[in-house]
Amino acid sequence: MVRIGLDVGATKTVGLLCTESGRVLHRVRQKSAVKDPDKLYADIRNLIQKLTGESPERPAAACIGIAAFVDHATGHIHYAPNLQVENFPLGERLQRDLGMPIHIDNDVNCGVLGEARFGAARGVQHVVGLFIGTGIGAGIVTHGHLLRGARGIAAEAGHTLFIPGGRMCGCGRRGCFEAYAGGRFIRESVVRACRAHPKSRLCAEEAKNLTGVWRAMSDGDPVARAIWDKAILALRVLVTNLVTLFDPEMVLLGGTIIHELPQVADAVREFLVAQRLRGILHTIPLTQAVLGGDAVALGAACLPDQP
Ligand SMILES: [Zn+2]
Repeated sequence: MVRIGLDVGATKTVGLLCTESGRVLHRVRQKSAVKDPDKLYADIRNLIQKLTGESPERPAAACIGIAAFVDHATGHIHYAPNLQVENFPLGERLQRDLGMPIHIDNDVNCGVLGEARFGAARGVQHVVGLFIGTGIGAGIVTHGHLLRGARGIAAEAGHTLFIPGGRMCGCGRRGCFEAYAGGRFIRESVVRACRAHPKSRLCAEEAKNLTGVWRAMSDGDPVARAIWDKAILALRVLVTNLVTLFDPEMVLLGGTIIHELPQVADAVREFLVAQRLRGILHTIPLTQAVLGGDAVALGAACLPDQP
């Protein structure tokens, strides 16, 4: 059986034609349309039609992981802050225009599901997954199934509370974990720190990305250290809380920051190992995602198997 899987992210869309066992038959990458729901819709529909045309048989379903708060039962987009789309009946329109089964869920939910089916957490029944990139997204798999909550927006771990009244987050609330450890906020901290400490190594050209900021810290720059210390503390607390809440067999860390700086995963692991809650926290493996840019689209293609 062949399925279509799409990853509709804030900047790019990946479309795959794949088998049930996760073998990729065809892959297309393109830019995502932002601020224009009709263009976004047309791009998604055209991509599904293109992949259908490439398929050796009629695909059984078209499945989409999208960076949005989405009702997985209907495919209705409540709100996609980074795509700047709100209240859009994506599932209903695709179903009507394409006449094939359509499945839609949040992108990080799909990414964690993909890793649980085909990647680093293959075969693991209870997984807590955290994807740390521009923002922080999470997906929780229990008994092999995604935890979605009453409205399909469960597991928004990045927007749980770290510091009451703290930094303003992109979600409109203050003090979320994402506002301390998401890539966009780390970069904003660097800009602020450079204004206050223009002589810091942090402000040199080579420290323009997060890898450079990490290097400045390793070279002894105290301003860079203060920024990373705060981000890593936030991640350590968040992962420890999630482990305590969900008792997973595995914690999975992914996203661009973890991919570019595996030292961040090491720092979180070190803290987890040092915990002795109920004598078992330190035994839970903390693993890095392995499917990279295919995780969300491959996970989306597993949505028809989810209840
Ligand atoms: Zn938030």
